[in-house]
Amino acid sequence: MALIVQKFGGSSVANAERVFRVANRIKSYYEKGNSVVVVVSAQGDTTDDLLEKAAEINNAPSKREMDVLLSSGEQISMALLAMALEKLGCPVISLTGWQAGMQTDSKHSAARIGSIKTERIQRELDLKKIVIVAGFQGIDRYEDITTLGRGGSDTSAVALAAALHADLCQIYTDVKGVYTADPRIVPDAAQLEDISYDEMLELASLGANVLHNRSVEVAKKYNVNMEVLSSFEEAPGTVVKEVNKVEKMIIRGVARDNDVARISLTDIGDEPGKAFTLFSILAKKNINVDIILQSIGRDNKKDISFTVPESSLETALETLKENMGLIGAKEILHDADVSKVSIVGAGMVSNPGVAAKMFEALYNANINIKMISTSEIKVSVLVARKEGEAAVRAIHDKFNLSNI
Ligand code: ADP
Ligand code: ASP
Ligand code: MG
Repeated sequence: MALIVQKFGGSSVANAERVFRVANRIKSYYEKGNSVVVVVSAQGDTTDDLLEKAAEINNAPSKREMDVLLSSGEQISMALLAMALEKLGCPVISLTGWQAGMQTDSKHSAARIGSIKTERIQRELDLKKIVIVAGFQGIDRYEDITTLGRGGSDTSAVALAAALHADLCQIYTDVKGVYTADPRIVPDAAQLEDISYDEMLELASLGANVLHNRSVEVAKKYNVNMEVLSSFEEAPGTVVKEVNKVEKMIIRGVARDNDVARISLTDIGDEPGKAFTLFSILAKKNINVDIILQSIGRDNKKDISFTVPESSLETALETLKENMGLIGAKEILHDADVSKVSIVGAGMVSNPGVAAKMFEALYNANINIKMISTSEIKVSVLVARKEGEAAVRAIHDKFNLSNI
C-alpha cells in the first residue's frame, strides 16, 4: 500500500462531469488499497473571475482581503469533489488549508509554506478516508488566510507530499506532461519522458506554467517523487526527478514569459556606486530585477537597462521617479510590449555554439533581439511581445525539438 498525493488543476475540475471523472480516478487508486490525499485548485476561471469581482469594488484592495477572497475558489472545489466521492460511496473529508495545517509566512498573495502540521490529515487517513485539501492557501501565525501565488496549488501538493513522506506526488493537468514547449504555442512539441529538477525549475521560472516554480524547488529539496500527467486520458506522464545520466539532449525546452517589462535609464554618471544605488532602491521595494545591460561609458555618462516583471512595472517607475535625485539619470524609458524567450538544458554547458544557434533561428525569422542573458543551463532573449510566439516556434524548429 502506498501513500499518494494527487493534485488536480482548475481545468480538471471545471464542471460536474469533470469533477466526477476526477472522483472516479481517485476512487480507483483508493480501492487498490492506497492512502490518497488530494489537492484541488479552483474550478476553471474562478480565480480570474474573483479578481474581476474585486476590481469592481476596489482597484487597490489590501492583499489580506484579496487572499480571503481568492482562497474561496479552492474551498468550492474541495467540497464539490468530496460530494462527488460521497456519491461514489467513498469515505472522504475535505479540509481547508488551515484545517490541513498549512502554516505559511505572512506575505499575502505570495506566501511561502513554512511547515505543515499533518496530525489532522494523518488522523483522517488512519480512519481510511480520502482527504481532500484546498490548494493555493494556508494560514499565517496571526491566523490570517494566505495564498501562495498564481499556480500555487502545485506547491501545496508537493509540500504535502514531502511532509507526509508520500511515495508519489501526481500533478494532473490538461496536457499529458511536460513538453519541449507550450503545446498551445508549438502544436508539435514533444512530450518529455523525464526531466531533472534543475531543468524543470528553470523552465517553470522562465514561463512554462505547467508547474509552479516553487513546487519544483520543494520537490528537489525533499526529493519528492513527482509526475505530471493528464486528467483527461490514461497515458504516461513526465517524471520530474534527479537525473544523473549524461543527457543526449542539449536543449530540453523553450519557454516564453510575458510577465516582463524593460526599463532604461539614460545618461547616468559613469562612476562607482550608481548601479548599487539604483538596484538597492528597487530591492527595498521587493522588485525582482532580471536581465541587466549597461552601456560603455561615453563623456562620463552611461545607460543602464534592466527587466522587471510587468506586474511590478508601475511600482518600479514610481520608485525610480521618486529617487531621480539620487540616481541622476536624464530620462526613464520603459517598454512593456516585450516577451522573454528562453532555452533550457543542462547539456548546453558543454556544447559551445548553442546560443549562436538560437540567435541564428531568430535572425532567420527576422526577429530582433532587445536583450540577452545567459547562464550554464539557459539562454534568454528579450523580443517584441508580438514576436514572442514566432520566436518560440523558430527556436523549437531550429533545435529540431519535435523529433527528440
Ligand atoms: P492547471 O490548471 O492544471 O494547473 P495550468 O494551466 O496551470 O494547469 O498548466 C497547464 C498548461 O501549461 C498547459 O495547458 C500548457 O498550455 C501550459 N504549458 C506551458 N509550458 C508548457 C510545457 N513546456 N509543457 C506542458 N505544458 C506547458
Ligand atoms: N487557483 C489558483 C490560480 O488560479 C491556484 C492554482 O490554480 O494553482 O492561480
Ligand atoms: Mg497550474
